[in-house]
Amino acid sequence: MDDETHTPTASAGGRWLIEPLGKASIFTSEQLTAEQLAFAETASQFVEGEVLPRQNDIENKKPGLLGELLRSAGKLGLLMLDIPESYGGLGTDKTTSMLVTEYMAQQASWAVTMGAHVGIGSLPIVFFGNEEQKQKYLPKLATGELIAAYALTEAGSGSDALAAKTTAVEDGDFWVLNGVKQWITNAGFADVFTVFAKVSGKFTGFIVERKDAGVSIGAEEHKMGIRGSSTCEVILDNVRIPKDRLLGRVGKGHKIAFGILNIGRLKLGVGAVGGSKYALRLAVDYAKERRQFGKPIADFGMIRQKLAKIACGIYATESMGYRTTGIIDAFIAQGSDAEKDRRTQQALEEYAIESSILKVYGTEQLDHTIDEALQIFGGYGYTEHFPIERLARDARINRIFEGTNEVNRLLIPGTLLKRAVMGRLPLIDFVAQVTAELANPDLIPMGVDGSIMGREKRSNELAKRIVAYVANIAIQKHMSELEDRQDILGALADMLIDVYLMDSVVQRTAQNIPGFGRERTAIQREMTTLLVADAYDRVVQGGLRLAAGIAAEDELQVIASNIERFHVVRPLNTFAATEKVAAAVLEARGYPALG
Ligand SMILES: Cc1cc2nc3c(=O)[nH]c(=O)nc-3n(C[C@H](O)[C@H](O)[C@H](O)COP(=O)(O)OP(=O)(O)OC[C@H]3O[C@@H](n4cnc5c(N)ncnc54)[C@H](O)[C@@H]3O)c2cc1C
Repeated sequence: MDDETHTPTASAGGRWLIEPLGKASIFTSEQLTAEQLAFAETASQFVEGEVLPRQNDIENKKPGLLGELLRSAGKLGLLMLDIPESYGGLGTDKTTSMLVTEYMAQQASWAVTMGAHVGIGSLPIVFFGNEEQKQKYLPKLATGELIAAYALTEAGSGSDALAAKTTAVEDGDFWVLNGVKQWITNAGFADVFTVFAKVSGKFTGFIVERKDAGVSIGAEEHKMGIRGSSTCEVILDNVRIPKDRLLGRVGKGHKIAFGILNIGRLKLGVGAVGGSKYALRLAVDYAKERRQFGKPIADFGMIRQKLAKIACGIYATESMGYRTTGIIDAFIAQGSDAEKDRRTQQALEEYAIESSILKVYGTEQLDHTIDEALQIFGGYGYTEHFPIERLARDARINRIFEGTNEVNRLLIPGTLLKRAVMGRLPLIDFVAQVTAELANPDLIPMGVDGSIMGREKRSNELAKRIVAYVANIAIQKHMSELEDRQDILGALADMLIDVYLMDSVVQRTAQNIPGFGRERTAIQREMTTLLVADAYDRVVQGGLRLAAGIAAEDELQVIASNIERFHVVRPLNTFAATEKVAAAVLEARGYPALG
């Protein structure tokens, strides 16, 4: 560890795969400062006081309500966290803005509305706007006087965003834009749009205003969930905008579009923590109240298992989420104040793998949480009388936008392997170490049995070796066509997600034990044990399946037995650990915090 206070170190993105646990300290929720928690409290009071009581009006799209709520949030400073102080914002760290995102997530239509405004809507101008653009728009976006949206998608270009057909043509002192953007969040009332269009085939960003002649907004979509949020087409019919509305440089729109999506992905991951905590609270209250066979259903083992599993999933997403925001903040803090915006962009690129992991795991964990919470509600959960029905519809979109989970799964190993090939990540050195360990098994780190978290630390280290070992085989065998082997990339993505999960929960819990004591961290240790047991099993099975999919018959036996060397089987009483977590959830009436 770096120091006793566990100040996070900005080690390079993806390094957790090849470095031993504890090489660098990580940021955890337990390190949130009083100032960060004060913002969380403001967000929590706002959601509980202003948003949740008006849920029905939000869902029924009461005219003007979301704009009104945005301006109220603006008065409390909640829209200005990511806007620099010099443009009327607060310029807080990313952890603070993510923490606020977590609290907002209790009402999904609202969370998507606010997230689109402060995130993908405003940030293109924060990061890529010139001085005049920042002066003109940011102070008003910071208060909610102007509302922002991000217009990338078109009917023919969703995941393949660069295939957009919208054009921008130079005409004297103007750009003339033509095209139709589809499914644009906040379009019904937004004032300012970041629009992506092609200039002679070059993908480019522009700022378009609602009042520009030729801009019209389509009808509201009828959606499965987040029905309160606004989603419409933005139609650009010979829209003439002044030359100075070009955002960044011609042909550099992809940098804006994809850089901004990284932050959207982080937000969805951390938002999943807030949504899951809310769903768990609803499920616990119902389970305690609902009686069948003469007792509360919370007494039944299968219901308790569900509660424990949900809590574990939240612990995992929360650990990965705040680890990632903390490392981004640490990376930004290494530069001067003047460099902050540039370093933020660099940080978002540096931790793109972690952001995609968080997006995929968080959104899938949220769906699992809500599905199981709905199951706890039984038939009542399937009716509109209980909020869990809406939560189930609302959560489904998260796996689709900000890059579908398939696209993000491809990005995880794709980015990691690219960095390895470029020498940015010394994966090859780690593979050499793993090969040496296989030749001399005494070198394999087996940990100390019986030591605190010994089993979990060992599983984590061994899982890293399995992933590096099979990834190297995949590279050797399919170097040139690996990009097209989605079966291999998908399997690697799932293993990498599990390694980041294990590394994050084990390190968080291990860091907490000395400070808080074994008694107060007991539930964190049980959750870590359960999470690691599952994740380690998945990595071993994933490694064996991947090997079987790519190795020749005569090589497979050797490869499988090498993987088995990194597989230590010791029976574990998961029943007892599950019961302890379930009891803690019921006692805490939701997600059990420390102690
Ligand atoms: C409610 C809502 C709000 C939205 N808000 C915005 C917004 O504010 N701004 C904006 O610009 N867009 C927005 N979108 C658009 C959203 O980002 C896209 O829907 C998303 O990017 C997916 O594109 P698509 O729907 O065209 O699906 P497609 O790209 O057609 O994908 C269909 C399926 O094919 C899979 N697929 C696609 N390519 C690959 C591949 N290479 N490999 C493997 N599988 C692949 C996908 O994962 C998916 O399962 C919103 C959409 C919705 C529904």
